[in-house]
Amino acid sequence: MATLLLGRFALNRAVNLGLTRMIGNSLNRRTMHLHQNHAFINGKWVGARSGLTFDVTNPANEQVLGTVPDMDINDVNDAIDAAHNAFYDKKWHNSTAKDRAALLKKWFQLLEKNRKEIALIMTAESGKPIAESEGEITYGNSFVEWFAEEARRVYGEIVPTPQSNRQMMLVKQPIGVAGLITPWNFPHAMITRKASAAIAAGCTVVIKPAEDTPLTALALTKLAEEAGFPKGVLNVVTSSRKNAASVGKLLCQSEKVAAISFTGSTEVGKLLYKQCANGIKRIGLELGGNAPFIVFKSADLDKAVIGAMNSKFRNCGQTCISANRFLIQDEVHDEFISRLTEKIKALKIGDGSHDGVQIGPLINHAQINKVTQFVEDAKQKGANVVLGGRQLSEHGALYFEPTIVSHLRDDMKLYREEIFGPVVSIIRFKTEEEALQIANATQRGLAGYFYSNDLNQVFRISKLLETGMIGVNEGLISAAEAAFGGIKESGIGREGSKYGIDEYVYIKYLCYGGLE
Ligand code: NAP
Repeated sequence: MATLLLGRFALNRAVNLGLTRMIGNSLNRRTMHLHQNHAFINGKWVGARSGLTFDVTNPANEQVLGTVPDMDINDVNDAIDAAHNAFYDKKWHNSTAKDRAALLKKWFQLLEKNRKEIALIMTAESGKPIAESEGEITYGNSFVEWFAEEARRVYGEIVPTPQSNRQMMLVKQPIGVAGLITPWNFPHAMITRKASAAIAAGCTVVIKPAEDTPLTALALTKLAEEAGFPKGVLNVVTSSRKNAASVGKLLCQSEKVAAISFTGSTEVGKLLYKQCANGIKRIGLELGGNAPFIVFKSADLDKAVIGAMNSKFRNCGQTCISANRFLIQDEVHDEFISRLTEKIKALKIGDGSHDGVQIGPLINHAQINKVTQFVEDAKQKGANVVLGGRQLSEHGALYFEPTIVSHLRDDMKLYREEIFGPVVSIIRFKTEEEALQIANATQRGLAGYFYSNDLNQVFRISKLLETGMIGVNEGLISAAEAAFGGIKESGIGREGSKYGIDEYVYIKYLCYGGLE
């Protein structure tokens, strides 16, 4: 046992030293406790039953930051059992909203107190510039605070009855164990947006973070442990990409799991939807987008350019609500491109942990290969590369130059598919009808943006654009108070806002009869 403990200490220390070196010795010993190299099941930090691990690397330089357990279905079964026992046998389902709110508040306070270290971990494993990591922490923490407040407002109803000897009530009850599967592009916020809503509702959770970014997930979990979450309420299983499909299938098919909430690609979302069908399992899906960003001739071009920069280049273009197709009206097309080009040229590219960097690396090789292929495909089919268009190997293997491509046609991948990279793809249009037709000609419907100072047009387009969220003269739209989610193949359900908890409760109708 002593050897084991020593081994684990040594490993932790090695991980911590590695991380410290990677991110410039900016961590100190006092805050090292957030670097976990074990998963968290039933209140214990554990390895995989198989003993297997996988490496977590820094996309800025591809160096190994640490290792975490490569868990498979045996470990996930343990986590599901723990969450199930906590919900039923240990009576978490019967906990009061006030107590759950207090726990979430405590977690929020610890997340705030440790924000600097979480940001360093996040930048190290995701490549996100440090200022953006801090921004994500503000955003991610805001869900914990928000749902701590919302926990006490999950009201039922007393319904007027059609018979005088009856009383009818609708109450909301927690649905049970929720399986949460999250992506790498928001390693903090995609977890807190789901987990704090589920826990506020009275559910217990099993979280599977993405292979690329488990360290942020484990840092959040360490703070949940410190906040005093009872055993089994919050469980985190780390697994490599090769186990993702079997782990996901188990979460979807286990009778002990009542609900699945997934954020990720539409392709995987469709698969999980099918897998949940057999058990008629509750599912929430936050999937990929193909956001139009329309600039009409009446727009304030300076504001439109700022909005475009915010919407396109956050996280190097790797967000689900990133502007994906820029539709620019004929009259302002050239001027918009010229102003945008100047802004893009000023972007500072590099390792996200360095001061002032605004564009870091892409997350992994699959991602940079995809972006490169999309640009090549457009070039071959006759598009015009206005700026950039190449990998920046002088920075490292995963950097792509911020790029503008114009003269797109609808047979090009840049036009049709989600880019998830720092590429502005520009389509010229003449009329409002044409812009709407292009914008809506996709099966995705997550976010959309448009810039116009014509009030009638603002109301028309707000109504006719087929997306779940719209930024009107605004490129940054996310907030805990807002309902986040898509239509068409971009998802089902909403996260954040007062509706976020609904994903984790069911309405029970109570009919009290024979009353005198
Ligand atoms: P992804 O490949 O779908 O992965 C998302 C998560 O699902 C990861 O944890 C992944 O594990 C896991 N996974 C992969 N294959 C699985 C399977 N067969 N069964 C169960 N789980 C599986 O997506 P991604 O490339 O990480 O993320 C990018 C996509 O997410 C984009 O399309 C983006 O638009 C979307 N996204 C949507 C939102 C939103 O709120 N709508 C927010 C952020 C991102 P591994 O990491 O181990 O593969």
